[in-house]
Amino acid sequence: MKKIPVGISGRHVHVTKEHLETLFGEGYELTIMKDLSQPGQYAANEKIDIMSPEGKLLAGVRILGPVRPASQVEISRSDALRFKFVAPVRSSGDVKGSGPATLIGPKGKVELSEGVIIADRHIHFSVEEGKAFGVTDRQMVSIKVGGIKPGILDNVLCRVHPNFRLDCHLDTDDGSAFMLNTGDEVELIKSYTINA
Ligand SMILES: [Zn+2]
Repeated sequence: MKKIPVGISGRHVHVTKEHLETLFGEGYELTIMKDLSQPGQYAANEKIDIMSPEGKLLAGVRILGPVRPASQVEISRSDALRFKFVAPVRSSGDVKGSGPATLIGPKGKVELSEGVIIADRHIHFSVEEGKAFGVTDRQMVSIKVGGIKPGILDNVLCRVHPNFRLDCHLDTDDGSAFMLNTGDEVELIKSYTINA
């Protein structure tokens, strides 16, 4: 079976055009620092501070572009515990009823009543890659990790789309637990049995 590259996603934030202008000023546009694995997606040079409902400050969180229909803060469970955020595990874009936060930019603040999540484990596939791996959009699979702290991670959501490119996205907590770095490879498994 072909291996799947891993991308470890650090904490980051997505913003709407309207929120970007509140945070950085009218007419402001994001500037590209680095392209990401998914076509059209990029890490911006711009960073903002994010305050939890309990007043703890997560400073210098990078914005990922382009702007989106809803603002969203993606953190790890470790961040949520340390900085006192409410953050359910969600797929990107599914922010209804998720945690609140205040976004703080150089020119203004935005109160988000929802939008703070811990991103689910997911794999991006192009349509061709989905066919090659025999998976369909929204299918749940597992991945097998090798190395010095190996294991199997379940509940990994497959996302198949013409604009996607093969990459398994895990947060920094999963990455640290399994000693995984961006660029490492994992194996896709659809079912398995544990032998006692
Ligand atoms: Zn994201």
